Amino acid sequence: MIIESRNPVQRVLMGPGPSTVDPRILRAMSEPTLGHLDPQFLKIMNECMDMLRYIFNTENRLTIPMSGTGSSGMETTFVNILEPGDKVVIGVNGVFGMRMADMAGRCGAQVIQVEAPWGKPIDPADVDNALAKNSGVKFFAVVHAETSTGVLQPLKELADICKKYDVIFLADTVTSLGGVPVDIDDNGVDVSFSGTQKCLGCPPGLAPVTFNEKASKAVKSRKTKVQSWYLDLSMIEQYWGNERVYHHTAPINMIYALHESLRIIVEEGRESRFKRHKKNHKALGDGLEAMGLSLIVDREYRLPSLTTVYAPEGINEADVRKQLLEKYNMEIGGGLGVFKGRAWRIGLMGYASNQANVFLCLTALGNILESMDRKVDKKAALEAAAAVYSS
Ligand SMILES: *Cc1c(COP(=O)(O)O)cnc(C)c1O
Repeated sequence: MIIESRNPVQRVLMGPGPSTVDPRILRAMSEPTLGHLDPQFLKIMNECMDMLRYIFNTENRLTIPMSGTGSSGMETTFVNILEPGDKVVIGVNGVFGMRMADMAGRCGAQVIQVEAPWGKPIDPADVDNALAKNSGVKFFAVVHAETSTGVLQPLKELADICKKYDVIFLADTVTSLGGVPVDIDDNGVDVSFSGTQKCLGCPPGLAPVTFNEKASKAVKSRKTKVQSWYLDLSMIEQYWGNERVYHHTAPINMIYALHESLRIIVEEGRESRFKRHKKNHKALGDGLEAMGLSLIVDREYRLPSLTTVYAPEGINEADVRKQLLEKYNMEIGGGLGVFKGRAWRIGLMGYASNQANVFLCLTALGNILESMDRKVDKKAALEAAAAVYSS
């Protein structure tokens, strides 16, 4: 037997996720595995919950990481709140809104979609309309950071509308947590889920979730058992709470990774971290525009952790990505849905959101486009990015 496939090189991961993992986190993952009820491990769990509350900016007691990637966080919030026959309203303006609508349907819920064009935010007036027309809606769900389009959805106004109709407000914060303020309590978000592999800068594998009293009450007052045994919070809460009852074995070393990533966030400070993401995003965006490319999203809704940009007309965008990977070890994402074949998605998340990556990306993209006989202004791109850092 010849086994030779696993010999990964160090890539610059600037796609829609996973993002490059901080070496400190990889080292933490190689520490000795403890038992899932070891007193030392219980302390690590407690610190994880405290630090998750810090980055979610919430007082919610029920704030824990679920075992599984971001989608398992999505599924956790849906299967625990929804019962067959419930009515939900879901904002759909990209892939992840579509995924939420699919999941709600699988839970047996009646799904009402509020749509916006890809690349635009959901219009609060449309949500108000939908909630006015449909009574007895269990929750309204929206994607805070749509990774398929690069739109950052303002939350506050949507939360106020949900309050007006006494509807639970659910937000997908997978691509915002750790890179953009999510301010769960101040924004009036009742329940949210995220993932470790985007702006937290961890490998994929955990999904932090947070439920306030209103959302927890909906879970507690359900009439039927949660259909998923694995994601049933009434049991998982007893492991993360004071009871420490075994449910499933926690992915110990993945929890070390989360713990280390949160410790890095506490060291850096959440405000400085958000500032860093914003600055690098601006440098990249200004650079791309100075090069002669057009960004997809209007300035005020641009997502600091993910920039979407149109590929020049007539360019094979997949070929450019292939060259980036082969010649520069850099991964970026291709467009999805209406942007398929026409755009790139460039992530600057967590550890990967740094000045060196911005300059490398602009240089590499400029070189490749030039080699395809495209007129791009590489010099202007680098100057525009440099101007952001010197201001
Ligand atoms: C990545 C992502 C998810 C799904 O997370 P996985 O880790 O791929 O399961 C959900 N929502 C958004 C907005 C995402 O970007």
